[in-house]
Amino acid sequence: MSLQSRMAHVESRLAEACLRSGRSRDTVKVIAVTKYISVETAQAAVGAGLTELGENRWPDAKGKWDALHGQAAFHYIGSLQTNKVKDVVGRFAYIHSLDRLSLAESIQKQAEKLGIIVPCFMQVNVSGEESKHGQSPEEARSLLRQIQSCDRIRLTGLMTMAPFEAEPELTRAVFRDLRLLRDEWNRTESLRAPLTELSMGMSGDFEIAVEEGATWIRLGTVLVGKDDI
Ligand SMILES: *Cc1c(COP(=O)(O)O)cnc(C)c1O
Repeated sequence: MSLQSRMAHVESRLAEACLRSGRSRDTVKVIAVTKYISVETAQAAVGAGLTELGENRWPDAKGKWDALHGQAAFHYIGSLQTNKVKDVVGRFAYIHSLDRLSLAESIQKQAEKLGIIVPCFMQVNVSGEESKHGQSPEEARSLLRQIQSCDRIRLTGLMTMAPFEAEPELTRAVFRDLRLLRDEWNRTESLRAPLTELSMGMSGDFEIAVEEGATWIRLGTVLVGKDDI
């Protein structure tokens, strides 16, 4: 399938999910996850109008970042080791995988050095699946409180992944729980700024995520396909 037809197909599914849930299409932003594609395909995607790109490892992202950082915003969506923070902070517009205090402190330090603010999502393991990164909701609450003192981190929302190949109803429950957690924290925690964003939904489950309130969906295979790289 061509990039254009993939994009058109995703767009119509997305528009329908918005319609079903009474949301306006412009409340959902799409991150094209480029980790399975070459620099050339990523360039074509940006040329076709996909200007938010997601990557989950810096060594794999580097070639695309070098070629495209003036034309697209990069989202770091993979688990982030503390020793890679210096590569990521300053290059990526958002970090979606903030999941522990040591990482927050390391981001804070690097951001101070560069004199910038780093927009981040806290990754929460709502499903409790062991292979997934992110804190349990209770641990995440204490992390949230600790992060309030990191003035270089702008926590914009929460991120989660549904269990791999889960039943749609379980997936829906995971996404709904992330939304409810965000809403609860906005009501009960004293935050520097409200959490507005929800980063959830991938190729296999983005429509459910939209129905449950996703504001950023992260689409690889279904949107930009896979190259032999
Ligand atoms: C790879 C990846 C995606 C995109 O995966 P697809 O199923 O190909 O859409 C989304 N989010 C994260 C965190 C990823 O690692």
